[in-house]
Amino acid sequence: MSERKQTRSTGAGKSVKRNCLNCGMQYQEAVPDIADRAQDPACIKCDSPMFSLSDGSTLTADIAHHHETVVKALNKFELVLNQAWQQSHAENLRLIVGGGLIRDAVLAELFFKKSRGTVLDFSEENRGAVLIRIR
Ligand SMILES: [Zn+2]
Repeated sequence: MSERKQTRSTGAGKSVKRNCLNCGMQYQEAVPDIADRAQDPACIKCDSPMFSLSDGSTLTADIAHHHETVVKALNKFELVLNQAWQQSHAENLRLIVGGGLIRDAVLAELFFKKSRGTVLDFSEENRGAVLIRIR
């Protein structure tokens, strides 16, 4: 059996195929949002957590360079954050936020999300990019 390479998932997610990072067992149950990360289901074969195991990778998403309004950019942020949780095993999500209002809004949202435990940590890589640790 050949190993499927994890592709960057930026398309609209329909049914989510997920395999246990530890043993490869396929997962077919309901997929929790990142906000519900405490309810991480376990692999039926090896008991590993299906969503919180990390492969150490970093995904990158640009939410600020297609003439987004702040509201639109925040919606995109929620979407890519959930996709990174549900469709990858990435440790980090790098968000390209530009230098303006979108960045300020995203940082404010991240303070909130970190206080809720939805994201583990975040830091400003440079003025235009934020690195968010999700696993
Ligand atoms: Zn497993």
